[in-house]
Amino acid sequence: MNLNEVMKFVESEYIVINNTPCEICGGDFLTESVGLTFENGKPENITHCVCENCGHEREFSFRAPFIGAMNQEPEQEELN
Ligand SMILES: [Zn+2]
Repeated sequence: MNLNEVMKFVESEYIVINNTPCEICGGDFLTESVGLTFENGKPENITHCVCENCGHEREFSFRAPFIGAMNQEPEQEELN
């Protein structure tokens, strides 16, 4: 995955956020913070947003496929 594809991924997140109205008042969400989390070993980008109109908070989560692509380590877990 090259830089252009990473940019497209980040861009698509903002498109989703910009096209999601607040479910309380229909206002626009403002991005407050962006953070990466690793849930069950899968990288996810959690974007915390706040409605600019009523202050309603919402979290958007996106898969971050480029993390795995850049840091390829086959994981093997043994379950007893
Ligand atoms: Zn709102």
